[in-house]
Amino acid sequence: MSQWITVLGATGSIGGSTLDVIARHPDKYRVYALTGHSRVDELFQLAQTFNPKVIVVADQAAADNMAERLSGAQLDVQVLFGEFGLEQVAAAPQVDMVMASIVGAAGLVPTLAAANAGKRVLLANKEALVMAGPLFMKAIKDNNAELLPIDSEHNAIFQSMPADYSGELQPHGIERILLTASGGPFRGKKAEELTAVTPAQAVAHPNWSMGAKISVDSATLMNKGLELIEACFLFNCQPQDIEVVVHPQSVIHSMVQYNDGSVIAQLGQPDMRTPIAYGMAWPERIDSGVKSLNLFDIARLDFEAPDEEAFPCLRLAKEAFQQGGIMPAVLNAANEVAVDAFLQEQIGFLAIPAVITEVMARCAVKPADTLQDVLQADAWAREQAQQLLADHSIA
Ligand code: NAD
Ligand code: MG
Repeated sequence: MSQWITVLGATGSIGGSTLDVIARHPDKYRVYALTGHSRVDELFQLAQTFNPKVIVVADQAAADNMAERLSGAQLDVQVLFGEFGLEQVAAAPQVDMVMASIVGAAGLVPTLAAANAGKRVLLANKEALVMAGPLFMKAIKDNNAELLPIDSEHNAIFQSMPADYSGELQPHGIERILLTASGGPFRGKKAEELTAVTPAQAVAHPNWSMGAKISVDSATLMNKGLELIEACFLFNCQPQDIEVVVHPQSVIHSMVQYNDGSVIAQLGQPDMRTPIAYGMAWPERIDSGVKSLNLFDIARLDFEAPDEEAFPCLRLAKEAFQQGGIMPAVLNAANEVAVDAFLQEQIGFLAIPAVITEVMARCAVKPADTLQDVLQADAWAREQAQQLLADHSIA
């Protein structure tokens, strides 16, 4: 019997890779819903190819327009819009699994809805977990949902962990997690060489082709900071249990080190279809379309320590996790605003960590016990970051 899947963020980079895997297995997977925000033409084309039951767009006007186009093409598809629509398709009773691949905080509410509805959640949207880690992990547990990490590093760690991992490192003899990082396009540069880098240079990732926001995060190393927090929540550990290892070839996607001297790693091409297919089919494996790795072509693997002086975002993320409560949500929101401003050429590259530092300094840590607490912290941090940008106190 085929399984029904909702793809949140179907028009994005992860969304596209997910649909590529789905298309290879029409007997196994069927698309229940596709969602997209601004690229409505692409979304319409995807609807023609995958014939989903439901499409979700940004607002009423976009929904009216989409409904008209779909009926013109004689496609019987329900059209919903906004956050309510996203929640509906994430939690619909027919749905077996939800690919959470909206970028940023906008993905939190629907991803949490999928967890609360007991779905298999394929988590690419790391920001959702960073913002609301304890709430999210509790929602998964309380509702017997399944959480499969799609972020390549976390997927690699998951694959390198014991299958019966209990949520504690020590009883399984795990000494630490080795979280690999490519180092991004500016690896090896010092802070003074980063003042004038442009958005085009920042999004030109050496190994991975990804959306603009995560590409900038990779350049600042905030991506690794968010991933460190993501790993702490997913595997119930502390920043000191995780070592970030810069590995420029991106062949090893992360490793787990055991107390008998063993290190177990997962290797592969830098192609997100591998972790996506793994998450969809787990505990089985299916063809992902990714070509096999040729180690003779790779020839060598390099490793170095991250430079936290030139790239302070990694340190900021560790601090945010350690302060706990709403602080990871505040870090994430300030980062989203700063990255957006950088992409629009309103601020320079080094202003990104400067904005985050200042917003975190203004924040009095409070518990993040409810979704409301998290959303309020997110809104507050965005306002603070916007104010800093408007004041031109950080440029
Ligand atoms: P992307 O920018 O290519 O796509 C983002 C998707 O989110 C699009 O479908 C867009 O329509 C949707 N979206 C954007 N704003 C929205 C809003 N306000 N409301 C509803 N939908 C909205 O991003 P991506 O590179 O595919 O990344 C998606 C997520 O996966 C991110 O959280 C990213 O960190 C994570 N991730 C991506 C990669 C990768 O290789 N691209 C790897 C690991 C993790
Ligand atoms: Mg990653």
